[in-house]
Amino acid sequence: MSEQLTERFLSYVRINTASDPISTASPSSSCQVDFLRILESELREIGMEHIHLDDKGTLYAALPGEGSGNTVIGLIAHVDTSPDVSGKDVSPVLHNDWDGKAITLQPNIVIEPEETVDMSRYVGGTIITSDGSTLLGADDKAGVAVIIEICIRLIADPDISRPPLKVAFTTDEEIGRGMDNFDVSKFGVDFAYTVDGSSIGKVDTQTFNAWSANWKVKGNEVHPGSAKGILVNSVRILADIVAMISPEEMPENSSGDEGYDYPLSISSVAGEGELKMILRDFTREGMEERIHRLRSLEKWIRIKYPRAEVSLQLKEQYRNPGEILQEDRRPVDYALKGMERAVLEGKEDSIRGGTDGSRLSFMGVPTVNLPTGGELFHSRKEWIAEEGLEASFRIVLETLKIWGENGPFHQSLSE
Ligand SMILES: [Zn+2]
Repeated sequence: MSEQLTERFLSYVRINTASDPISTASPSSSCQVDFLRILESELREIGMEHIHLDDKGTLYAALPGEGSGNTVIGLIAHVDTSPDVSGKDVSPVLHNDWDGKAITLQPNIVIEPEETVDMSRYVGGTIITSDGSTLLGADDKAGVAVIIEICIRLIADPDISRPPLKVAFTTDEEIGRGMDNFDVSKFGVDFAYTVDGSSIGKVDTQTFNAWSANWKVKGNEVHPGSAKGILVNSVRILADIVAMISPEEMPENSSGDEGYDYPLSISSVAGEGELKMILRDFTREGMEERIHRLRSLEKWIRIKYPRAEVSLQLKEQYRNPGEILQEDRRPVDYALKGMERAVLEGKEDSIRGGTDGSRLSFMGVPTVNLPTGGELFHSRKEWIAEEGLEASFRIVLETLKIWGENGPFHQSLSE
């Protein structure tokens, strides 16, 4: 298995699929569609059913046969890679029999085992990286390769217990648009797993709640020589707003389960300007507090600058699926149990960010994120171990088996 999975992964990372944050098209880059077309024909070759590639860049398919039970499970991976670092002409390098020491890809691109979470467990194994000139693309070609190999295995061996299974490959996850055109009713599953996580042994069940906050200020611009009593300077007002946000609440002072208020960009002249912020918090109450604080600040700024036009637009981006997953714990419990069987460990974790699952959970499909084994995503130091990739495959397979074993007649593992 290991070899076939690795070969598949290596062939996928060589294909450029970077998403494009500037494009307004869906999907944002045509190279993603080129890759989806390859996957579409592979799905056909291996015997998948109901294969459909829609014009917005999502590829859906179903595993033939009913499986056990009436709870339909979905597996999801995104085909795009981060536009932060080039993903063109990726040339993967295999570091066989890794000695546990730093890996030098280029003079200034060195992977220090200490700066990455989980590398030491792969001493003696095979670490896969790029040549240092591009990202690797394990995020999320690892997930794509694992899901295809899972389908191949389940079709080859119909005796393996499993639930009715669907798969979806999405685009533009890295630019936050992965779920914009996702058709939940077409997918038709009860629960889903994104295979898009990092360290083996962790099931991601919590993400941030996320809002954007967009300030707009209109002042009054005149020649500074004759400005007394007339000039209303948007630059000064926006600087005042940023100064009123506590440094304690900024991302550079935030870790673990703490959220943050992040002023992302400010652009202004005296006449008008704009400040873009994002707010992040794991709890709903915490997020309400952050929103309340900004609304109070807005009132205060209006009182202080009565001649300026000040507006604050707040918009929800995604939500922590943790609260949805509390309602029916099976997707979490079965994944933990599957992980336990596959790699003898498993615990719940949270992501200081969001996943497609954060949005999908609130679109009616409670979704948990499973690990791929890759690390240092979105960088030229991105790496994955062959053994980690293999572990990801086993985790997904064991999790599906547990769904199959618990069929329609069981409610939960504890019964
Ligand atoms: Zn990803």
